[in-house]
Amino acid sequence: LAKKECDVVVVGAGTAGLTAAMFAARHGLRTVLLERLMGGAQIINAEKIENFPGLPQGLSGAELGASMQEQTVKAGVEILLEEVFSLGLESPKFVVTSDVRDYLTKSVIVATGSGLRRLGIAGEDEFTGNGVSHCATCDGPFFTNEVVGVVGGGDTAADEAISLTSYAEKVILFHRRDRLRAQQVLQQRLIRQPKIEIMWNTVVERILGSDTVTGVQTRNVITNLEHRLSLSGMFVYVGLTPNSSLLGNLLMLDNGGHIPVNLRMETSVPGIFAAGDVRQHSAAQLVSAAGDGATAAISAYHYISNSRSR
Ligand SMILES: Cc1cc2nc3c(=O)[nH]c(=O)nc-3n(C[C@H](O)[C@H](O)[C@H](O)COP(=O)(O)OP(=O)(O)OC[C@H]3O[C@@H](n4cnc5c(N)ncnc54)[C@H](O)[C@@H]3O)c2cc1C
Repeated sequence: LAKKECDVVVVGAGTAGLTAAMFAARHGLRTVLLERLMGGAQIINAEKIENFPGLPQGLSGAELGASMQEQTVKAGVEILLEEVFSLGLESPKFVVTSDVRDYLTKSVIVATGSGLRRLGIAGEDEFTGNGVSHCATCDGPFFTNEVVGVVGGGDTAADEAISLTSYAEKVILFHRRDRLRAQQVLQQRLIRQPKIEIMWNTVVERILGSDTVTGVQTRNVITNLEHRLSLSGMFVYVGLTPNSSLLGNLLMLDNGGHIPVNLRMETSVPGIFAAGDVRQHSAAQLVSAAGDGATAAISAYHYISNSRSR
């Protein structure tokens, strides 16, 4: 296929990418949005979003994702189901290579988000899909009236533990410290929920089972005492890994793989912008991802306008 020319290629159709593409199109830029999986991205698995401004009743992640996508398409953006493999320079433009074709573009907005980090313990790979999960909304119903574990201490772990109480008889939250990082409002809900037990200062060292998960081996980090517990599902939420492997040759990344940006969402390469969870010091929230996307698109617009006048 011949190279397709455009003004902006946005990579990733999560909240950051959808917002960036919508703003870019509304600024009159020919915008292509490339997504490898599904528009809405990370958020489509969230049961209820309560902290997005303007939605006092809350909305499910799937509904919010779908309406953001609809709004972006309405603004004139072409959303294509393609995976981006590389990003190169063909001065003064960029070449974005997907599994379908090359794009020759004046600027790029990287909004590739992040994936859930793995624990890296015995049994995790073996039982993924057979008792080990990263999605309470998707897999919670399989554990109706059973005992499940959740590992983590941030917003997502707290949120997912609360969601699991709709199905499970008991939810054990394993946390390696003596306090949670989750927002106060979620912590209060956790503590008030009688089906949730929190095991503080506890790490999960091994997931046990034969065909499916039957239990876990834990260790208390203060006493070093090991313990075996019976349960039938393990939900893992121990942080995020940025989806930035395709960028390393062209863009500067920090030690954690995030993209450093300035307040205009400019990266180390003029004309390439980053937005959302993939950028350094992101708040990893929907509203900040949307804000980054808008900023990145406006910056791309100024970059392209200034290049024209040079
Ligand atoms: C269960 C759960 C509940 C949450 N609840 C809340 C909440 O209540 N409130 C809140 O504010 N935040 C919440 N969050 C966090 C929020 O979802 C994220 O901060 C936000 O979705 C980040 O948006 P993003 O656009 O940066 O990245 P993402 O949503 O991760 O989107 C990135 C997209 O890029 C695509 N992509 C990556 N690499 C490529 C490539 N090479 N080619 C093409 N496409 C690519 C991915 O497939 C993905 O679709 C929750 C997260 C989870 C997991």
